[in-house]
Amino acid sequence: MIRLSRSIVGTEEIVRVTKVLNEGYLGMGTQVKEFEENLQAYIGGVAKVACVNTGTSALHLACQAIGLQDGDEVLVPSLTFVATYQAISATGATPVSCDVNSEDALLDLVDAEKRITSRTKALVYVHYASGFGDLDKVYAFARKYNLRIIEDAAHSFGGSYKGKKIGSFGDITCFSFDGIKNITSGEGGAVVSRDVEVMQRVQDARLLGVEKDTVKRFSGQRSWDFDVTAQGWRYHMSNIMAAIGLAQLERFENEFAPVRRKYAQVYREKLSSCDQVHFLKHDEGTVPHIMPILARSRRDELREYLISHGVESGIHYKPNHMLSFYKKDQQALPRTEKLYGELLTLPLHPGLSESDILKITQLITEFYLK
Ligand SMILES: *Cc1c(COP(=O)(O)O)cnc(C)c1O
Repeated sequence: MIRLSRSIVGTEEIVRVTKVLNEGYLGMGTQVKEFEENLQAYIGGVAKVACVNTGTSALHLACQAIGLQDGDEVLVPSLTFVATYQAISATGATPVSCDVNSEDALLDLVDAEKRITSRTKALVYVHYASGFGDLDKVYAFARKYNLRIIEDAAHSFGGSYKGKKIGSFGDITCFSFDGIKNITSGEGGAVVSRDVEVMQRVQDARLLGVEKDTVKRFSGQRSWDFDVTAQGWRYHMSNIMAAIGLAQLERFENEFAPVRRKYAQVYREKLSSCDQVHFLKHDEGTVPHIMPILARSRRDELREYLISHGVESGIHYKPNHMLSFYKKDQQALPRTEKLYGELLTLPLHPGLSESDILKITQLITEFYLK
C-alpha cells in the first residue's frame, strides 16, 4: 500500500531521544528551550516561539491570549481540520463559517466581510494545503475591521511569503508538529508572535497559568511559590518531543522540503493533460504538506480505483459547517461544498519514491481514459 502520509523518523531522532532518556529529564527543559531557539532562528525576524503539545493547543492558547470569550465571533473558513474550530469554541467564542475561493480553497474575504458583526473579534486564516494567497490583503482587511489574525499555518511550516518565512511577520501564527506534518515532534505545535503580551500569556497558560514558570524550567528549576492569575492548561512540550523536533528541523531544508516540492511538481506535470483533474492555485515559496487534486468527475470511484491498486488517498476536509456541533441555521457555503465533492488528497511525504508518484499519476490517467 502506498500510504497517504507517514512520519519520517530515523537515526537522528533516535540518537537525540536516547540522549534525553539517558539524562533523565523528560519534561519541559533545555531541549524545549533549544527547539524554540532553533525555530526562532529558522523563522527569522523578531517573533518569539512557544512550543506546546499539539497544534490544536497552539491555536487554543492563541485564541485565549487575544481575549476571546463567550459572545465573541471569529471568522474562519469552513474547509479546515476540526481542530481549528475546536480551538475557537474552547474559549466560548463562536466560529463563524465562511466560504472559500474555488481556485485556491482559501478564505473568501468578500464572503467573510458579509459575516462581520459588532461581535466579530478575530479571523483565523487557514493556510489550506500550504497556500497562503494574498496575505497583504488579508492583513489590510483585518486592519479595516480592527480584527486580530491567527494564522493556522499547520500546513505551511517552512513556507515563505514574498521572501519572508511564514511566522516571521503578521499577528499570531500557529504551527502543528503532529506525526505527519512538514516536521514532527511526535505530537506538538508552536505559537509564534511578535506581540510580547500575547507570548507571555501563551507561555504562562501552557503551564497551568503558573506565572513565569517557563523561565524557571528552562534553567532547571521549579516554582514552589507562585501565583496564578488566569485559566491555564497542561499544554507544554516535553524534552522527548523537542528532541525529535530538533532532529527534524535539522533535516528539513535539505532533505524534506525539496522532496515535497519536487513530488508536488511531478504530480502537476504528469496530470496536466488529464482534463478531469484540476489543481489548486499554487503559491510561490510553499513547502507542500498535502497534495489535493480536484477530480471534476467520479471522485469516489477514483478513490476506490486507487485503493484497489494499493494507493491510499484522503479527503481534506469535511466542512465544519456540516458537522452537528457547528451547524448553525446559516445558509449553504456553495464553493466549499462543491470543493468537498471534488477534493481528493494524493500521497505526499518524503518516504515515497518518484516511481510511486509516477505510478499514481498513471493510475489516474488510466482511470479517466476508461
Ligand atoms: C494538523 C492541523 C491542526 C492541528 O494540529 P494537531 O497538532 O494535530 O493538533 C490544525 N489545523 C490544521 C489545518 C491542521 O492540519
